[in-house]
Amino acid sequence: MEQNKDLSQVDIPPAKRIYLNNSNSILFKKLLIVSPFLCLLFSLLVLRLIRNIEIGSLGNINFQAQINHDHRILGHLPYAEIPKEKLVLIEPNIQVHIDMRDSLLEMRDEAKKNGIYLVFLSGYRSINLQNEIFYSLKSLRNQEAVERARVSAPPGYSEHSTGFAIDIGDATQRETDFETEFENTDAFRWLIKNAAKFHFKLSFTKDNKFIDYEPWHWRYEGSIEALKIFESSNRKS
Ligand SMILES: [Zn+2]
Repeated sequence: MEQNKDLSQVDIPPAKRIYLNNSNSILFKKLLIVSPFLCLLFSLLVLRLIRNIEIGSLGNINFQAQINHDHRILGHLPYAEIPKEKLVLIEPNIQVHIDMRDSLLEMRDEAKKNGIYLVFLSGYRSINLQNEIFYSLKSLRNQEAVERARVSAPPGYSEHSTGFAIDIGDATQRETDFETEFENTDAFRWLIKNAAKFHFKLSFTKDNKFIDYEPWHWRYEGSIEALKIFESSNRKS
């Protein structure tokens, strides 16, 4: 009996262990019940994190797109062709936007009073003419489009199509027409000092990263229409 008693006493620990096991299984069951919720919570957190990362990278892509895609082609911005009725003849072969004519002629007169003789080389150019210039000269000079675009705009991308651009030379130094050396003429020095008074601005300065320096090429920004047309260019430069 005593032995039995002892045995029954010995039996207690296994019973306790069973109780302990029961306690573990209850904990396990509780975990089983809670685990789907934990999984759900975890998944939601992960999804939210992924979404935030995607939004962040999309934002970066959009921002990059704004920087890289301002509709330039080979560094040139697109320009629509001026309606024919807005064009006026200022020289036998030179037409410009009617809004620019008075300022341009006043600038030439003012220069003349100062002993500077400005000569107008090129004003409005149709997209068709620009097409000829870009493609025929490109092949003549055996240049690829990228190289050619540094010195000439592709058709549809020239400021000359707007009627608000004018190429200017020095009447006393015609050998500098369309040449970088034009910057050493009295005409250029006078323009740098005075053109802004007549609302003219040098379009392609030395620090232009896309297009070669063109000291002869000026554009008019003396009207709302002109400012609107060149708004993109002014914003990016
Ligand atoms: Zn030009």
